[in-house]
Amino acid sequence: MSDAPVPARFYPAGGDAHGHPALLAWQGTSLQVMPEDSPALQVSAARLRVEARGFNHSQWALSWAEGDASHLLIVDDSVVAPLRAVMPALFQSGEHHKRHGNRLFRLGLIVLVLLPLLLLGGALLALDPLADRVVAHVPASVEQHIGEAVLARTRLDGPMIESGPAFDALQAIGRRLARPGEKLQFHLAERPDINAFAAPGGVVVVHTALMQQAGSAEEVAGVLAHEIAHVELRHSLRQIVRGAGLRVVVAALFGDYAALGGWAAQLGELKFSRDAEREADRHGLQRLAEAHIDPRGLLDFFRTLARQDSSEKHLPALLSTHPASAERSAWLEAAIAAAPIRAVQPLTIDWAPIRRQPGRTGPGD
Ligand SMILES: [Zn+2]
Repeated sequence: MSDAPVPARFYPAGGDAHGHPALLAWQGTSLQVMPEDSPALQVSAARLRVEARGFNHSQWALSWAEGDASHLLIVDDSVVAPLRAVMPALFQSGEHHKRHGNRLFRLGLIVLVLLPLLLLGGALLALDPLADRVVAHVPASVEQHIGEAVLARTRLDGPMIESGPAFDALQAIGRRLARPGEKLQFHLAERPDINAFAAPGGVVVVHTALMQQAGSAEEVAGVLAHEIAHVELRHSLRQIVRGAGLRVVVAALFGDYAALGGWAAQLGELKFSRDAEREADRHGLQRLAEAHIDPRGLLDFFRTLARQDSSEKHLPALLSTHPASAERSAWLEAAIAAAPIRAVQPLTIDWAPIRRQPGRTGPGD
């Protein structure tokens, strides 16, 4: 193969950092390098190392050893086409990087286009973490995509329970907690750790272990009201965006569930600030009051967790992510006493069959 010479930038071994203009031509499997200001070189393709370079990896670095140093050529994509035909193996890792780079570049472009919309202009100049600014303007459709990804991910991670006393109880509690017109979905996942979390878009996932270990429906209701508050207040979304960056918003906008899945998996482990926990407790109590559910269930649940803590080697996930400090319990008790719920309507759910429900972790496990 032999084509018309193409321009490149040549960085000779031990030379300066600016590089020199050069022309390149292929002669068979040999690359002829003709620097403008030094003698021509002949390099066998077999000696070349190939790496993607440049913004968006639109260029390639061809290098070959010369003594202790390497000669380097920076070339455009067109130059490497003949080499690719001869030695495809050279490009396998480079191609991988390049594809990745192209994807990141596309995402980058999308972010660049969307940012002005998301940030409503001037927020870019703000010193506050970008994530917090962006989260305030994330549309509901993005939250729904994240919720769907969380659900898909949860289904992949293990079995879901779609019937039986624990499932029915969860639906009944969920119906009581939902506000008129509010779309919340309650899913039961068969998992051995005591956990529950709510994802953006109103997807609530409860582990079977939580249902089995809870002492009453009111305990579960208290936990769920608190978790739903984290979502309402966009704490979850903010933590995800802080952790994963704006990519998560972009992926959600485009329904890229594969990308969302990884972040979705972390949702049950999100840690919130003490202020965020207090705010979620306050909003959770408000929701319980509206639903006429006894808020002392939430306090009781802390006792359930504390019992579990002393008898288990591992801290239940909910306890490690939501520290049930004495301070928090005291605050809850005071808040409940200050605004007692009028007209409490008990959740009339027989909890005994749920506690007995066979699962991977019964109380006697
Ligand atoms: Zn919390």
